[in-house]
This record gives sequence, C-alpha cells and structure tokens, in this order.
Amino acid sequence: MKVFSTQDELKSFLQRFSTNKSVGFVPTMGALHAGHLSLIRASKADTDLTVCSIFVNPTQFNESADFENYPITIDADIELLESVSCDVLYLPNSPEDVYKNEVPFSIETGVLSEVMEGKNRLGHFDGVMRVVKLLLEIVEPDKAYFGLKDFQQYAIIKNMVDKLGMKVDVVGCPIIREESGLAMSSRNALLSNTDKKKALIIYQTLKELQNSVEVGEVSDLINKGLEQLKQYTEPEYLTIAESDTLQPVSRLEQEKKYRAFIVARIGGVRLIDNIEIFV
Ligand code: AMP
Repeated sequence: MKVFSTQDELKSFLQRFSTNKSVGFVPTMGALHAGHLSLIRASKADTDLTVCSIFVNPTQFNESADFENYPITIDADIELLESVSCDVLYLPNSPEDVYKNEVPFSIETGVLSEVMEGKNRLGHFDGVMRVVKLLLEIVEPDKAYFGLKDFQQYAIIKNMVDKLGMKVDVVGCPIIREESGLAMSSRNALLSNTDKKKALIIYQTLKELQNSVEVGEVSDLINKGLEQLKQYTEPEYLTIAESDTLQPVSRLEQEKKYRAFIVARIGGVRLIDNIEIFV
C-alpha cells in the first residue's frame, strides 16, 4: 500500500495512475474496524484503485472532549488496510494539508441537516461537508463509499454532491455489526465491558421497533422504546423518519420507506445506530 502524507504527492500519483482507470474512495477517521473494511472491500470489488483516507477532522467535532478522546490507532489501521489490499492511504500530516485550497461554499440542505444529528450536534454537518468536499476534490474518485450506519451523513453527502454537480457516485454500504448486534464503531473501543453489554439495548430496541410497527400512530412505540433505552443508557433521541427526506414522523403510511434512528450515551460515549422500518 502506498501512503501519502500530503495532498500534492497523492494528487501527482493519482494523475499518473488514473487515465482510463476507475478510482474508489473511502474516507475515514481511523481506529478502523470491520465496518470500515467492508467499505474498502466494496470499493475493491467495483473499481481499479482504492484510496482510503484517515483524518480526524477537527471541524466536525462540536465537543472538544469528543475530539480529544477520539481513538487513534495508526499502526493497527495500516495493518488492517494491508490485510484487505487497500491500494493507497492518504494520511495527511496536518489539518492544513487538507484545508489549504479550501474555497468557502454554501448549499441548500433543508430539513436534512435540521433534524437529529444536525439539531443535536450544531455545526457537525458543516464540518463534514467541508472535509468531504475537499477530499473528493483531492482524490477525484469515480465512486465514494459511506456506511449507512451514519445514514443522515450519507444523505447529506449525496445531497451535497448532487447540488454541486460533482461527478462521483456516492455508494451507501450496509451496517456491519458485532455478533451481539452492536453496530461496529471506533467509539466502541472507549466502552468498558459492562458498558458494551448495556449498549446492546440500542440494537434490541431498533429490532423491536422494526418488528412491531404498523401503519398508523407510532408515538406510543417511540415512548416505550425511549423508556427501555433509559434503563441502561442516556438516550438523546429515538426518531422514526422518512428514509428519503429524513422528515420525522409520528404516523406511518403504507408504501413509504422509513428508518428508526437512535443516539444514546453510555459512560459518556455517544453511540449512533439506525434500522430500516417496513410497514
Ligand atoms: P468514521 O471513521 O467513523 O468517520 O467512518 C468512516 C466511514 O465508515 C463512514 O462512512 C461510516 O459510516 C462508515 N462506518 C463506520 N462504522 C460502520 C459500520 N459499523 N458499518 C458500516 N459502515 C461503517
């Protein structure tokens, strides 16, 4: 695997490589696990060259403690990337290397960035859009891979790419879970064993919702789910929203697509998960 610490070196390598070859891109913040590796595998299966980036982007953190505690495991990350034959890693030597050519922009995100993570983590999606736009401009991939674990992020990036007319196919990849059902996350490394067991309530609650929803009012089910989460966690929200618009709903209609979203804290660690809802 080739490792580049500056965007100039990466760009000159990609310019030499990419004539008539397709490039797939997987942006990450490191502390890699099987969820990230599934994105690398998807890119390897679809494209000629897979580029991964590892960059803990300061502009998307709205809590300094979260940024400071974010796990960093570069040596293990490089080994994992090599184990799945990732071709290129962009490991910027500083935030300035990523941001040096930034041109400010603004786009219409509407309700997509006003609900859930947009409401509870003010400024988070502005930071995500800034960094993803810059990374896409540096790598110029044909396809970019994002996990549906961060479903709202995926929707916001798809919207950004559409609005800016960027020529990249944004691909959403399934959520990878531990055998227990817990969604894999870099932040799981911050949980004690006891807290990891408590965290199982998140997926259990999502599954129960998925199994019990029917057409019509869902407020009671949402309240029941919140009460259940409160036994082991501090829930921030449990929301059912339309999959396309992310508009939260309290009534479900036939033939519409929905997802249920949970954010809950355990021992100060903020965990996020979601599931498709069928009616
Ligand atoms: P992060 O390093 O947390 O910024 O995540 C980088 C990418 O990996 C994002 O597109 C995430 O949605 C994706 N990702 C993280 N965890 C998972 C998971 N458990 N399953 C699938 N994709 C994931």
